[in-house]
Amino acid sequence: MTTACPLCEKTADPNQLSELVWEFPLSVAVLGEWQQYRGYCVLLLRKHGAELSELSEQDRRQFLDDMSLTAQAIERAFRPRKMNYEMLGNQVPHMHWHLIPRYPDDPDARQPIWGPVERAGADAVLADRLRGEPSLRRETIERVRRQLQELTSQRA
Ligand SMILES: [Zn+2]
Repeated sequence: MTTACPLCEKTADPNQLSELVWEFPLSVAVLGEWQQYRGYCVLLLRKHGAELSELSEQDRRQFLDDMSLTAQAIERAFRPRKMNYEMLGNQVPHMHWHLIPRYPDDPDARQPIWGPVERAGADAVLADRLRGEPSLRRETIERVRRQLQELTSQRA
């Protein structure tokens, strides 16, 4: 484990994660903070590394497959207008995918979500709106999980 990498800490013991959605052998999905984008998940690689090019071919394919499957589960659960797939790592250079469903009522529908998220740092009302309804978070996790159960069992 690399010292002080928050994602190494999080993935070291996925059962300690309060909003764990799914455990794959190579990655774990957790619920994303901004649930105005209902179903938003973050998929964390269970190894430290910043770039896809650092992975073995097998791990890279597996990680991309985990990402696609998680995105598909979100699509099936919530029928968004569009999925956004983003791996940035500028702030935390440990590979993780932001899987963000986008909906027709989104006021910034043509832009990535990071503008509003940035503005939310200085705007508590906007932050509350972007976080979504707290009481729905458990149900959101369950709905994505149910789809992942179906998708993974179809493959077995
Ligand atoms: Zn790390």
